[in-house]
Amino acid sequence: MKAFRTKSAKETERAGADVASRLEPGDLVLVTGDLGAGKTTFVRGACRALGVTEPVVSPTFTIGRRYRAGGGRVVSHLDLYRLADMGAEEDGLLDDYVTADAISFVEWPLVGAEGLPEPAASVEIGHAGADEREISVEWSGSRVEPGTQ
Ligand code: ADP
Ligand code: MG
Repeated sequence: MKAFRTKSAKETERAGADVASRLEPGDLVLVTGDLGAGKTTFVRGACRALGVTEPVVSPTFTIGRRYRAGGGRVVSHLDLYRLADMGAEEDGLLDDYVTADAISFVEWPLVGAEGLPEPAASVEIGHAGADEREISVEWSGSRVEPGTQ
């Protein structure tokens, strides 16, 4: 387990970049935490590090977006917050995003996580007062080992 304590959104983006540097296509990262904890901020930092140049904001009218990243890679970004409203329990909806060719980030995976494959990493972000956040990163996938790249 790796832990970060960040003091600004920029530092949380940096934590996302650190995690991103260890990911490969097919990897899934689950990002949990309360509203406003910094999940999207973390994913934005990861996306930037992977070479995504589009704006990275929470998907609003869909559960996910796919971005073109550097080196021909694809990054998927899902927010399952409104999953139930969207009737997304239907089989296969997440399959359009969490694909073998993409590096995938999923916010709020506590809802609907049963439809997801085994994650490479699970990230938890918690408020730690004012602009401080506690971020823990648990690596669980066997394919990508922290510190081996
Ligand atoms: P979530 O996706 O978890 O709902 P967001 O990333 O959209 O959260 O929003 C986090 C908000 O908190 C942003 O407005 C960001 O600027 C602010 N913030 C302040 N301090 C931090 C920090 N240390 N890490 C992440 N975000 C922070
Ligand atoms: Mg968000």
